[in-house]
Amino acid sequence: MVTKIALVGIGKIAVDQHVPAINASPDWELAATVSRHGTVEGVEAFTDMAEMLNAHPDIPVVSLALPPVPRFAYAVAALEAGRHVMLEKPPGASLSECHALEALARKKGLSLYATWHSREADKVAAAKAWLAEQKLKRLTVTWKEDVRRWHPGQDWVFEPGGLGVFDPGINALSIVTEILPDAIHLTGAVLKFPQNRQTPIAADLTFYHPHAADVSAVFDWRQEGHQTWTIEVETEQGLLKLTEGGAHATIDGISPPSPSETLSGEYPRLYANMARLVSARSIDMDLAPMRHVADAFTLGRRETVDAFDW
Ligand code: NAP
Repeated sequence: MVTKIALVGIGKIAVDQHVPAINASPDWELAATVSRHGTVEGVEAFTDMAEMLNAHPDIPVVSLALPPVPRFAYAVAALEAGRHVMLEKPPGASLSECHALEALARKKGLSLYATWHSREADKVAAAKAWLAEQKLKRLTVTWKEDVRRWHPGQDWVFEPGGLGVFDPGINALSIVTEILPDAIHLTGAVLKFPQNRQTPIAADLTFYHPHAADVSAVFDWRQEGHQTWTIEVETEQGLLKLTEGGAHATIDGISPPSPSETLSGEYPRLYANMARLVSARSIDMDLAPMRHVADAFTLGRRETVDAFDW
């Protein structure tokens, strides 16, 4: 069955990923957009959320691809209007917002999905399956990219609620919290704030692990040239290397098989998950990656580094 969906916030990720994934999906028809400036060719466009919701009681699902700070008001409007909601990562600007959305969705009997696109990267499921049986010794995240290349001119990432380097870093944390069988929690952080910005451009994190494994992460947005999105996991039995944000993996140098499935790509899998959630009227609001980020802002020691300008 094809279900109508509205996409809100027609910007970088909507154009790069959401629109192609929806258009290629047998589950969805992109029936409307809401965006103050952006549109999608051939799709009815609104600039106002309330107008779209009033005009289209026939659209039961809304996908929000806005930055985190403005997203909450749009999510509340959609849920209040009886629509199922899919949230880009991070699912809100604060944990309290996410709890409020979940409570509202439960009250209304609606589906709500906090998506974590990196969890859908090709080798994440294989990594999780292998680690389920392993005794962990060390897990090291290295997430180093060039903010000018991936977020050109997006000042919101350096504004309060924009998360700074945790905008990509939370993707690493979404993989770590998916693949590790044991819960970890943050014990310390160093957050490097450019002197002219409100959010960190780099961060070093350390975590408690229940069996005393050495778990740490380095995030840096100042990396020019080669970009690194790697998670190395050393166990008593071998070494897992997840690279390219989870798209590739080796275990002791050998690539593990991917689970047999027909869908490929992070966003096609997210939209397939949303279709399943809606048909079951279920909620998926795993906030673990966000909790670690909130803890880093709570426990982190602040250092001031060179000013950042585009
Ligand atoms: P973006 O292009 O800067 O913003 C998306 C759209 O949201 C904008 O084009 C804008 O559309 C609308 N918007 C921005 N601020 C708004 C406000 N204050 N009120 C209402 N609408 C507003 O951001 P993005 O890169 O697509 O990121 C959006 C979300 O996707 C973020 O949470 C990000 O973490 C996540 N994400 C991004 C990437 C990436 O590579 N960029 C990858 C994965 C996930 P209008 O001006 O037309 O309203």
